[in-house]
Amino acid sequence: MIKKKRIALVAHDNRKKDLLEWVGWNREILGSHHLICTGTTGKLVENLLNNEQTDKRGDIITIKKLKSGPLGGDQQLGAMISEGQIDILIFLWDPMQQQPHDVDVKALLRIAVVYNVTTASNRATADFIISSKLFREDYQPILKDYSKYIMRDTLD
Ligand code: PGA
Repeated sequence: MIKKKRIALVAHDNRKKDLLEWVGWNREILGSHHLICTGTTGKLVENLLNNEQTDKRGDIITIKKLKSGPLGGDQQLGAMISEGQIDILIFLWDPMQQQPHDVDVKALLRIAVVYNVTTASNRATADFIISSKLFREDYQPILKDYSKYIMRDTLD
């Protein structure tokens, strides 16, 4: 049996409509994986996925909701990535508006690269990820070996 993927979904306010549309399109697939969201995104995704009219299977889809992004949710997600608890990050961030938590956004995107987490910042990439053959397989991303960095001599 293929392991369920742990998929993080985050969208800035101006991109939430986009993300919800994408989730709606892919609800059947997403419903059989673990979903983790920042607070406000999570509430919206949960409402959409558990709306009786749209949920044909009638199953309640549970979503792990973190704090709202600007209140620490992005950092919680970053911590989960560093603990190896996230397989895919779909993060529709707003390219047109500065965010109060810009530094957290940058940190989240950075740590996703450090741990080679499959990441989408736009719908087209999210479409490619969800329709990829690898999405339906157990996929183990190669992690860069940071042992030299960890063992470096800092007292020279
Ligand atoms: P939100 O956070 O889902 O609580 O709106 C999004 C974000 O990280 O900016």
